[in-house]
Amino acid sequence: MNIRENIEKIKNIIKKAAEKSGRNPDEIIILAASKTQPVEKIIQAYEAGIRYFGENRVQEGMKKIDQLKEKLPEAHWHLIGGLQTNKAKYAVRYFELIHSLDRKELADELDKRAGKLGKKQDVLIEVNIGEEETKYGVKPENLKELFEYSIRKENLNILGLMCIPPYFEDKEKSRPYFRQLREMKEDLEKTFSVSLPHLSMGMSHDFDVAIEEGATIVRIGTAIFGERQV
Ligand SMILES: *Cc1c(COP(=O)(O)O)cnc(C)c1O
Repeated sequence: MNIRENIEKIKNIIKKAAEKSGRNPDEIIILAASKTQPVEKIIQAYEAGIRYFGENRVQEGMKKIDQLKEKLPEAHWHLIGGLQTNKAKYAVRYFELIHSLDRKELADELDKRAGKLGKKQDVLIEVNIGEEETKYGVKPENLKELFEYSIRKENLNILGLMCIPPYFEDKEKSRPYFRQLREMKEDLEKTFSVSLPHLSMGMSHDFDVAIEEGATIVRIGTAIFGERQV
């Protein structure tokens, strides 16, 4: 298992998926999902050209960012896991883009904490696209309301949507979910006359399908780093 080779393979797959759908592969961000991975592997991925890293847990992410920010000066750190309201203040301090806004209470808290730092916080709204009990994300039927609420927040900058569809062995089964998320984004853009640049969707086993359906950020863990350590 070689991180550099893994990344080259992923780039080739991205290139093909982008060509197939008439898109520019350079516009697609590879976000290395680095949860549970040691800093040594994150450094290897950086040396192989990765600049975006996604952590799931605020505390684990903070620790790694503190360890790595001088070594990896061009790294962008995103929060991709669900966020508890009482950790919003740390999330705002450490992460450039938060992928998991899913409720009004969290929008209030992120806005307040960003304001205190004099920061405009970039966020994506996470949609529970498969309406699964166990997953984070706003229910599709409540998305418009949350969006309308959140775009009024002075210190939040809503850049798009994120989803984690149900897991299927057959990646083609993820396609309708990715397509739905794109349609939801387009619908919001039309309804609110805004432009939303990002769709964060697709993981190790289905990112090519996600790209064909419009993903701008693919979150890839095991295909870069190998199996996660526990
Ligand atoms: C772990 C994780 C990923 C990456 O999963 P892989 O299947 O290892 O690529 C992507 N997104 C989120 C939110 C994750 O928690």
